[in-house]
Amino acid sequence: MSGKNITFEDYMEMIKMYAPCMDDYPYVMDLERDVYYISEKAVDRFNIPGAFFDNAIKTHGEFVHKDDVAVLTKDLNDMMEGKKKVHDITYRWLDHNNRPIWINCRGRVIEGDGDRPRMLIGCVNEVGIVAKADNNSGLLQTSEMRQLVEQKAAMGELGFVLRIGIDGFKDINEKFGIRYGDYILSSVADCIVESLNENQHAYHAVADEYMIVDTASGSAEDGHELYRRIRRALDRLIEKNNYEAVYTISGGIVPCQDNDAFRYEKILKLSTFALQQAKDGGRNRVYVFSEDDYNSFLRKRNILTNVRKSVNEDFKGFEVFFQPLMTAGDNDDEARLYAAECLLRYQTWDGERISPIDFIPILEETGLIIPVGRYVLEQAALMCKKMQMVYPDFKVSINLSYVQILKSAILEDIFNILAKYGLKPESFVVEITESGYLENSMSVRRVWDSLKRIGVLIALDDFGTGYSNLSSISNFTPDYVKLDRGFTVKALNNSYENTLMKHIIDLVHSVELKIVVEGVETEDELHRLNIMEPDYIQGYFYSKPCCRTEFFERYGVA
Ligand code: C2E
Ligand code: CA
Ligand code: CA
Repeated sequence: MSGKNITFEDYMEMIKMYAPCMDDYPYVMDLERDVYYISEKAVDRFNIPGAFFDNAIKTHGEFVHKDDVAVLTKDLNDMMEGKKKVHDITYRWLDHNNRPIWINCRGRVIEGDGDRPRMLIGCVNEVGIVAKADNNSGLLQTSEMRQLVEQKAAMGELGFVLRIGIDGFKDINEKFGIRYGDYILSSVADCIVESLNENQHAYHAVADEYMIVDTASGSAEDGHELYRRIRRALDRLIEKNNYEAVYTISGGIVPCQDNDAFRYEKILKLSTFALQQAKDGGRNRVYVFSEDDYNSFLRKRNILTNVRKSVNEDFKGFEVFFQPLMTAGDNDDEARLYAAECLLRYQTWDGERISPIDFIPILEETGLIIPVGRYVLEQAALMCKKMQMVYPDFKVSINLSYVQILKSAILEDIFNILAKYGLKPESFVVEITESGYLENSMSVRRVWDSLKRIGVLIALDDFGTGYSNLSSISNFTPDYVKLDRGFTVKALNNSYENTLMKHIIDLVHSVELKIVVEGVETEDELHRLNIMEPDYIQGYFYSKPCCRTEFFERYGVA
């Protein structure tokens, strides 16, 4: 049925019949005569002159919110002129108290002979009812933002998008209750609305997040300014409420100018990222979207997907490499193989090699370092067992992350693996980096002491970087102190660090601990370092980390 033969009056009769059993408001508009009929119920609800009225386009001006008249008129004219066949816009009608009510008006054009647009038939519904608006804040949901964003982007008028989130909102809800939480949500929304200019439009995004779209080509700096205005409004409100609840907001700005690729879905995604960056950066701040940051976020996410899959598929893609630690000394007789540091390697499912500097933090953040750490222990034990057939005192040195120490049964794991392979405890050296945890965590202390009690050796790793603290040497008494390559390089080039290094080596020796110097690359470096009499040397000069087979070959283990 094409509707070609049905008249405006027929539609009117149909609407009269079925509209009383609907919540929505069906209508018909005669595009040739510019007359309009809508369900009687709409007349009860909105400021409409009557169910039937002529001069339809102009009369809409009497009950449509003034800011929306232009958009609506253009759409209706386009349909009269045959430029559009479908009508679908969300805008505001006024009720009898002149309060704006968000409605969604949809319809389609019925054509007459020669495809001439004859009528528009459709239905109006109240957006709030289907949760397209947030009744608490009085704002539309972001799903209703699409039209504005796409229209303004096409016209080159889209400026920035600012996404605002309330910091620690969950805590506010828990502390003050849901009703107070709702009050804060609506207050923040009010502060946002009062800070907007006429070209900025606010929407409710999710629970405690709002989005503002600037449609006057505003820059990121304008976004900053808006954030500051909202902050000031909020501060005034908090003060007015006698600091009953003190809270802050974070903001993520996405500059959208000159970029037609910034469509609705992309804006939602990028603004979510931008706000998260502001929160991760310590909250109570604003962050401006950067392509580089986003790309590194995507890369991180991609690595995570890969490693997670690998962990679930028997660690496929992971491999442990080994780098020798040699006894120090200038001639070949003195430099003997002492141990090997186990260094994890990873290759994605596409075959891309990722540096441990990039994937270890991801394993730590997600806790995946716990299963992966067990895999490393197993590989280390296996290799050690075989090496000891030729070098009975050979040791493997294993890096332990604080996540393993604090969140897994690491002692039990080490104990079990030693038993499984029949290894002596002193075959294992665990490398623990210096950090705030060492001094301040009781659990770390407990693990440290227990490891020593079992007889596993401990190396204090990365000595000479950030956290270095001489007191940790005496408070924790490791078996080895590993001087970081960064420190070694400085000591080779700078007389102050050179003297410091000598003193550190002497000090470490005076409490009968051993020194490992890391990152020795050339013969000249080796020679100059040996003068300071460290105990062990590790570095590219002797060997880069290599796979197990290569290591066996190099040291004559079949
Ligand atoms: P790290 O524990 O300080 O390991 C020493 C790093 O220095 C290794 O980097 C090694 O390849 C590199 N290196 C050794 N000799 C030289 C040299 O002569 N010159 C230069 N420029 N570099 C040298 P890699 O293998 O990239 O590992 C980086 C970091 O990743 C390690 O630093 C360690 O913190 C972490 N890591 C590696 N494997 C594991 C693991 O199994 N578990 C944990 N928790 N962390 C690991
Ligand atoms: Ca290490
Ligand atoms: Ca190190």
